[in-house]
Amino acid sequence: MSEFEVPKTSCPWCGHEMTHAGDPFGMNAPKPGDISICAECAGFLQLGTDLSVNKLEPSTEVYLMKNQPEAYANLLHLQSVILERVEGDRTS
Ligand SMILES: [Zn+2]
Repeated sequence: MSEFEVPKTSCPWCGHEMTHAGDPFGMNAPKPGDISICAECAGFLQLGTDLSVNKLEPSTEVYLMKNQPEAYANLLHLQSVILERVEGDRTS
């Protein structure tokens, strides 16, 4: 997974301040419409036209599930990795 800088913004799910976003699909440059994930709460995100970070619309998630099952599986895997790490942080 690569990381890219995004305009300073807060996660719409948890309020975590973000300056970088992970790229689960290994694309190099962020572009509007790209899907990402919050490294803090593992909430699914989608970049807006100005690279602002928005919640991933449920309809988009369903579309992804149906049309890009491999990408969606990657996203779910990434989410489980983040959640495990967050749990680990809390118990250590
Ligand atoms: Zn978050």
